[in-house]
Amino acid sequence: MAAHVPTMLAMIIVSSLMMAASMAVVGWGRRRDGLGRWAAALLVNAMGHLLIMLRGQVPDALSVVVGNLLLSCVFVGMIAAIYQFQGRPVRWLLLLTPSALVTGFVIAFIDNFPARVSFVGLAIGLQAVWALAAALERRHATVGRGQWLLVAGLGLEALVLGGRALLALSASEAATGILQGSALQTLTFMGTVSVVLISSMGFVFMSRDRADENNRIMAALDPLTGVANRRALIAALDRDVARAVRTRESIALMMVDIDHFKRVNDRHGHPAGDQVLCSVVSVLKERVRAQDLVGRYGGEEFMVVLPDTTLLGAEQLARELCKAVEESRCRVRPAGAADADAGVGIAVTASIGVFGGRLEPGDSWDMLIAAADRALYQAKENGRNRVEVATALRRPASQMAARDNPETHPASRY
Ligand code: GH3
Ligand code: MG
Ligand code: MG
Repeated sequence: MAAHVPTMLAMIIVSSLMMAASMAVVGWGRRRDGLGRWAAALLVNAMGHLLIMLRGQVPDALSVVVGNLLLSCVFVGMIAAIYQFQGRPVRWLLLLTPSALVTGFVIAFIDNFPARVSFVGLAIGLQAVWALAAALERRHATVGRGQWLLVAGLGLEALVLGGRALLALSASEAATGILQGSALQTLTFMGTVSVVLISSMGFVFMSRDRADENNRIMAALDPLTGVANRRALIAALDRDVARAVRTRESIALMMVDIDHFKRVNDRHGHPAGDQVLCSVVSVLKERVRAQDLVGRYGGEEFMVVLPDTTLLGAEQLARELCKAVEESRCRVRPAGAADADAGVGIAVTASIGVFGGRLEPGDSWDMLIAAADRALYQAKENGRNRVEVATALRRPASQMAARDNPETHPASRY
């Protein structure tokens, strides 16, 4: 299978230009994603192939020397784009070394066609492997499948260029006839078109995947305190409740409410109140275990989900938290004060309602919240800055009837 070479070159040029333009539009204003650098690499790819296409019509120095230089710069741009996406610094000197070597070699061997083709093929093939290694970097793995498209395109290009360079080294006619139509040449051009299309699409998807992931994370966080918001809390609690029902492990839940918080706002202003909320969150977060989840349930009310925790354990922790909040001071600088020490230390206390225990089939997250809320109400009633516990859930009559019926729950007989 041999295709018409000028047609294939024109395909590469047009597809590179169209992809470059599309990526420039998509990546406009999103410099950190590397889309601009990738688009620049595609532009260089189009120019390089244009010079190769014009061979014979423009001086060899332009077509051969500058053409090959540009082709090796394509991967410089692509690797730099991948690094920018990953937030890694680019060592330009190192990255440009293969391009400098290619240019030197092409000038030195301008009349030795097989040597030139094999060296340039090998150098660019190695650059493709470099780009492939950067794209495969596990530390920078992205969610979604965009990364695999990028890897597929670069891998194909590395294979084709490497194979062609090896064949050229063995001085095969097919490998060296750069402007003659041959199956190998067709394969090389196909590889280039694939890297342009598949890898560029993969790169765009990667940036899209990351934006989606960031949005997903942002949608689960409270913007003021940075902890889980109500929606994320309920989702996590729902998951943990289902697990606790299945495993029969104990689970605990705390509702933490700052006492007389309205007064903080009234005395020190709303912005100072905001800082107090953040400070209370840090006190809570510092003291819970890695598997526990602290979140903002609403206003000045926080929730702590404690999987695999008994009521006793949760009550102890709640007392520690209560004491820690009472002892902490939130240093708030008055508006306009330049001196860091000019601030006042705001002290607050919190009341905590705790539920803990084993669950049964049919128990749900809202029952746990209601129980912890009842205990919190008790803590407020009993004078605030204290912990109260709820030992039982209020189950609907239908659930109790089903539980007591051995037909529906044979396991409950044991
Ligand atoms: P209690 O001890 O009974 O809980 O009294 P409280 O004053 O803490 O409770 P109340 O529910 O009466 O008031 C809660 C206050 O929390 C009122 C509201 O302005 C304030 N608040 C809610 N969200 C925020 C916020 O994001 N920032 C600030 N600064 N204040 C908030
Ligand atoms: Mg309150
Ligand atoms: Mg409240």
